[in-house]
Order: sequence, then C-alpha cells, then structure tokens
Amino acid sequence: MKLIVVSNREPYRLESSRGKLEKTVGGLVSALEPILRKEGGVWVCWGRQGQKTPLETYITRDFVIKQVPLTSRDVSEYYYGFSNETLWPLCHMFINRTHFDNRYWLGYRRVNRKFARAVAEAYTPGSKVLVNDYQLALVPKLLKEKGVKDPIYMFWHIPFPPYFMLRFLPQRREILEGMLGADVIGFHTQHYVQNFQECAREILGAFYDDSAVYWNGRKIKVKAVPVGIDTDRWERLIREPKVIKYARNLRKKLSVEYVGIGVDRLDYTKGLEEKFRGIGRFFEKYPSFRGKVSFIQIAAPTRTKLEDYMDIKRKTDEIVGMIEGKFGEPGWVPIYYYYKNYGDERLASLYSMADFALVTPVIDGLNLVSKEYVVTKKDYDGALVLSEFAGVSMQLREGSLIVNPFDEEAIAESIYMALKMGKREKRERMKALRDKVVKEDVHWWLRNFLEDVPA
Ligand code: UDP
Repeated sequence: MKLIVVSNREPYRLESSRGKLEKTVGGLVSALEPILRKEGGVWVCWGRQGQKTPLETYITRDFVIKQVPLTSRDVSEYYYGFSNETLWPLCHMFINRTHFDNRYWLGYRRVNRKFARAVAEAYTPGSKVLVNDYQLALVPKLLKEKGVKDPIYMFWHIPFPPYFMLRFLPQRREILEGMLGADVIGFHTQHYVQNFQECAREILGAFYDDSAVYWNGRKIKVKAVPVGIDTDRWERLIREPKVIKYARNLRKKLSVEYVGIGVDRLDYTKGLEEKFRGIGRFFEKYPSFRGKVSFIQIAAPTRTKLEDYMDIKRKTDEIVGMIEGKFGEPGWVPIYYYYKNYGDERLASLYSMADFALVTPVIDGLNLVSKEYVVTKKDYDGALVLSEFAGVSMQLREGSLIVNPFDEEAIAESIYMALKMGKREKRERMKALRDKVVKEDVHWWLRNFLEDVPA
C-alpha cells in the first residue's frame, strides 16, 4: 500500500540562513510526520514561495515530498483569504472575524484543483489517499472526478461547525459536496460528526445514521477518531542528556518553587488573553504564591500578515506587560513570554520540568500540546489544567482539571488546586491521563481511521 498524504502545510521548511530543514509548527504536521517516516509514501503539500530551493519534489530519507507551487495571488486568496479569513473563523464560531469575499473563494477553488492534479500524478492504483483539513475540502470530490478508484480518506482537523454557523457561508454546498467525495471522513469528536451530518441533511438533503452519510447514491462513512501523538518519540526525547540538562539548568535559574507551562500558536482561538487574566487573578487571590510560581508561555507566531493576528499579538503583549507591572518584583518574573517557535527538544525540556500546564483555548479542534505535556510525565508528577472547549477534553476529562476558559476565577482556582494537590491524587490523575495518551497514540489513530474501508 502506498500512502499519499495531502495537506496544505509542508512538513519541513528550509531554514534559509543555515540551509537546514526544520519541521513546521502545528498539530497536523506533528501527527502525520512520524507516520510517513515509518510507513514511507508521498506527501503532497504547498510550495512556499521565496524558499531558496523550491523543489517540486524533495526526497527525504523516508518519504517523498511533492510540492504544489503556489503564486503569491494563490497564497493571498486561498491561504490567507478563504482558508484563514473565512473557514477558520467560521468553523471556530468567530462570526465577527469571518470575511466573505468571492475572490477568496475563486482562489480556493483554483488551488484545490492544483492540489488534486498533483495528487492524481502521484497516485497509482492501490494507494491510500489521505486528504487533510479545511484548506482542501474540495480535493476528495476532484479526485473522484479524476478517476481515483481506491477509497479516499479525509480528516478534518478543526471543529466542524453546527448548521447555524455553516449556513452563513455562501459556498456551504460546494464545501460539503467536496468533502463527500471522500469515502471515509474523520473528525476529532462525536460533536463534530453530528454537526457535519446535520449540515449534510439541512444543506444537501442527505440522510444519515450513526456512522454514515448517504448521499448521491453513495455511503460515506463518518467517524470520530481523535488524532494521537508519537509517544515513543517524546519518551525518547525526555531521556536525551541534553534535554535533561537543559530542563535541570532552567529550573535552577528560575529559582522558584513551582513552574507552569503553556505552548500555543498565537491564535485568537487559543485563549491567551483569558489565560493571562486567570494567572493575574491567581496572584491577586493568593498573594502568598507571589515570588514562588513562574509561568512560561511559548506563543508561536502564526499567520502574522493578518490583521486579526496582529491584533491578538498587541493585546497579548499588553496584558503580559500589565501582569509584570502589577505583580513582578526585582528577582521574580510571574510570566516569561516568548513569541517564537521552539523545536521538539526544547519543548520536551520545558514540558518535563513544569509542575503544571495550562491548556485553555476558547475553542480548539483537539489540542496536541496537552498530550505532549502528559506523555513527558513519566513519574506522574504534573497536573493538567484543560479547557472544556478543546476537543481533547472528551478524551482527557478523567485526570485533568477542567475549566471554562472564560472564567478567570476558575483558572485561578485550578492553578491553586494544581499546586496544592497531594502526591497521591496527582499521581492517580496523571496516570489516567498518560495511560490514555499512550494507548491512543498516533499509530492507534491511523489504524482506526485508515483501516476503516467502507462496506
Ligand atoms: N509546536 C512546536 N513549536 C512551538 C509551538 C508548538 O513545534 O513553538 C507544536 C506543538 O509541539 C504541537 C503543535 O505545534 O505538536 C500544536 O498543535 P496543537 O494541536 O496543540 O494546536 P494547533 O497549532 O494545531 O492549533
């Protein structure tokens, strides 16, 4: 079986100054890269312009990367436009941030066709094609039209919106029809499956039962299979001497009793403002912890050209500054805030040395950071504060401290609970979490999703 993975994002980016390949940041790449490294195959993704060597086909040690060259107009209309100013906010229920522009749509359609052509070139009978995410909703149908006979799989990595949101989209029909070109469609949670089924019924007049949508004389399987992480890789990372050494030195330098960690792309869905307000409230409510707890937040830059992202950056900078100003003292920093991307090794050090993690998106398709944090806790010595609006809360409810991220009081209380929790309770909670994450890893996900060939 040849696996063909199709995604907007490329798995690696050529880091121009050092000529080194670097893994790109995001949940989708983190999930799929280890699979292709293990199984081999072809990864069809976008060709970033301005890259020094815009190789159309790049062969890594383990698999082939086939890049779809995009023009700057494509990037602006398809990527920044329809994908990130229309579908992304709409699916995350931010109607006020959703822009509708027919040029964006035409660009999206044009680029989806380019992707479909590239996949058709890579395709040989017997391949399994796995199309990923909201940037490529039209590709499954286009592939069927191009004569791909093998089952086509589509995985939707972000929330699928309820009918009352999707109906705002002028191209709602085309999006659904495009996706329904697939034979199996996967989502992270049962809620998203239900939303999709209801949209298919309301918008297309399709029928559905527990596990499928019936449309146009075809049966399309739909299922909830949350993506897992490459747990072996994280376990290896935390055993590496330089990872251990960095963690130990950092802990020493911070010289506080407790350290919290947060790792997010700087996106308005990630609830960074709300998180910082909760941390501020914690220091206000529990002054005895001032000087004893520091929080490290990695905010990875993303979609920096869009106004909404510049806006969230300004607001986040401001609120971090306010907390520093209000609570900080010479010799103690309440929040260390870094607006940059970190690689796996550094993240492994940060996760493993942290006493608790705050994962508090206001809405999130799944959230892999929570799983990465948990898997580094080999001694079960940690606590996870988790938003009830992250898809992963369905999987990691047992063991986490679940919060409503809009409730700063609840965030403050959860931090307090994480710090005061007895050894035994901490261990029990973390064990439940870790067992789940290890059992339902990325290979479990692939087995459950890809082997489900329609009847
Ligand atoms: N990530 C990274 N470097 C960073 C920040 C994040 O490699 O500086 C990775 C992180 O390890 C995780 C992914 O990006 O695997 C984020 O996935 P998640 O599902 O949490 O959120 P998404 O970014 O997909 O919305």
